[in-house]
Amino acid sequence: MSAVVKDWDAFQILAPPLDGARPLKSLRRGQAVSAGEKLALDPRPGHGDLHAPASGLIEEINELEIVIRRDEEAVGRPPEALDLGRLPPGDLAAAVKGLGLDLPPQPAGTPLIVNTLKAEPGLDLAPALFGERRETLAAGLEAAARLWPAAKIIWAVARAGEAPAESDFRLIRAAYPHGLPALVKKKITGQSDPRGLGVRGGRELYLLGRIWRTGRPLTAMPLTLGGANYFVPLGARVADLLSFANLVPGPDDLIVLNGLVRGRTLGRLNRGLGLSAAALHLVRNGGRPGPAAPCRHCGQCGRACPVSLPVEALAAEEPREWLKEAGPRLAGCLLCGLCALVCPAGRPLMDMIRLKAG
Ligand code: SF4
Ligand code: SF4
Repeated sequence: MSAVVKDWDAFQILAPPLDGARPLKSLRRGQAVSAGEKLALDPRPGHGDLHAPASGLIEEINELEIVIRRDEEAVGRPPEALDLGRLPPGDLAAAVKGLGLDLPPQPAGTPLIVNTLKAEPGLDLAPALFGERRETLAAGLEAAARLWPAAKIIWAVARAGEAPAESDFRLIRAAYPHGLPALVKKKITGQSDPRGLGVRGGRELYLLGRIWRTGRPLTAMPLTLGGANYFVPLGARVADLLSFANLVPGPDDLIVLNGLVRGRTLGRLNRGLGLSAAALHLVRNGGRPGPAAPCRHCGQCGRACPVSLPVEALAAEEPREWLKEAGPRLAGCLLCGLCALVCPAGRPLMDMIRLKAG
């Protein structure tokens, strides 16, 4: 995995878009903050609190973002490291959320599945983290064992040698979409919808390990950027990241956040990235599909669907019918994008599915 991005101080840093988080009431424009200082609380499940990625001055604060101008001399309230090892599981989960990472609870009696596979083309971090950051991942597993002491660990791996010696593992095909969490769960449990069962990926365990080792808030994250892996400050702006990687978008290019199949395109480059961003790609004009043609009723979309949904029948329907009928018939859709990938007519199947199944 590539080195940390070092020369970040030339860039303006934004805190992640707030989008449900609540800035601390005491924050004021012009205020000095220290690296790691808490900026906002996020009460939503799956979201941790937000912290300053670097020391600086608050340049802007509004309902969408907190903008910090880096200033190494600025001193606010530097966070103290927490001794996480002393906390019982319930307090540990709350402390980890307070440090920036909220993990879904592990239902009693269910195995903890560690997914080492690449979930999707363009999401390249898992093999790099499992290969090169084993110590931090081991710390993440140690923390997971403290959080969910009764859970048995099962490794999902593409090759037997990728699981630790004497561990319980299952072999999963490396090809997309078999690494998607829903399909990994199905393969391991045999159930199509094992509710509540968690699959922890390498990135999640790495971030947990980082918190466990340091007792400090998350201020940086691993990110695949233009095909290489980096550590970047939380809240780094998309425009600055592209510039760092010498990626210059042309008027017809797409900026894709996360995977190349299931990711979404970004319209605004003047925005910071939060913890949910795992990859950023520049897709040249060649990646843009041509205008959609009418459905040819070839059936390829239905045959490609890994969970056998009637996507072909739905794709052929008129938009009005689609809007009326598609929701229940798409229950269980993985949003894997295979149907859209194989469609020779370039039908906007993912857009249609997201509208109803999203
Ligand atoms: S995105 Fe398409 S191929 Fe994938 S599960 Fe949904 S309907 Fe099936
Ligand atoms: S693959 Fe495309 S053209 Fe073929 S049936 Fe599905 S939507 Fe129609």
